Amino acid sequence: MKIYLDGKFVDQADAKVSVFDHGLLYGDGVFEGIRLYDGNIFRLDEHLERLEYSAKAILLDLPLSRAEISKATCETCRVNGLKDAYIRLVVTRGVGDLGLSPWLCSKPSIFIIATKIALYPQEHYDNGLSLVTVASRRVNPAALPSTVKSLNYLNNILAKIEARQAGALEAIMLNDQGYVAECTADNVFIFHKGELITPSASQGALNGITRGSIFSIAAELGIPIREANLTRYDLWCSEECFMTGTAAEVVPVVKVDGRTVGSGRPGPVTARVLASFRRRVLVEGTRI
Ligand code: PMP
Repeated sequence: MKIYLDGKFVDQADAKVSVFDHGLLYGDGVFEGIRLYDGNIFRLDEHLERLEYSAKAILLDLPLSRAEISKATCETCRVNGLKDAYIRLVVTRGVGDLGLSPWLCSKPSIFIIATKIALYPQEHYDNGLSLVTVASRRVNPAALPSTVKSLNYLNNILAKIEARQAGALEAIMLNDQGYVAECTADNVFIFHKGELITPSASQGALNGITRGSIFSIAAELGIPIREANLTRYDLWCSEECFMTGTAAEVVPVVKVDGRTVGSGRPGPVTARVLASFRRRVLVEGTRI
């Protein structure tokens, strides 16, 4: 596997960053998780825009222009002979000293990994997932905006561990006010009384690219959709619930905190949304 690292393609074994890189020492950096479908990168420009906003929010100057990053991303897929892949694009603050000061970091480091995607087991889509609400909360947006896709995932990792300890594969994370924010690496939607509802970024959700495409899909399918504050009760009593994310796509949720969601089986609206999403990924995208 060839990794793009600061302007060069290097073998996986040689793709190394310094122990003084602040991405490692402090989680000081930003990243994107992107999908290549049949030779097309899904919503690449939107991912790169989100990367730019994340970088801007943490005052990190991206080392390359959008066009250059786009080209490097496509090339990484091509040199690895990939048609379907998961792409991880990371920009770290770069090498500094042992203090926090980002201005002592010489230059940001950028690397791109494109690899065969480990797809979620089919049974997740066939039978749906059980989620549990965990104690670890989403970081208050006043401390770190949830829209910044930074290298700091510790609270999500703790949430994932808590979900596993409770015997579930995924967690519902609340914000500090007790409203539903999202899952550990996916957004969450409910379908109830004819409309799709999802928490807003101000409630602690990441502006998911998949989440964004659900808004276009809902418009196409003629299903009303809106952002709103959701409580755990709203999830428990919803007719349908699903998670969305680049790796997961659209995964049905059939149980939340031991309460059966709807019929307890993946719902018809979720199935329509997933089918529409899977059609779109094949036609919407940047040819590599
Ligand atoms: N929330 C979080 C915390 C995430 O890390 C991600 C990305 N895996 C998502 C939501 C979903 O975003 P996207 O659809 O852009 O993958």
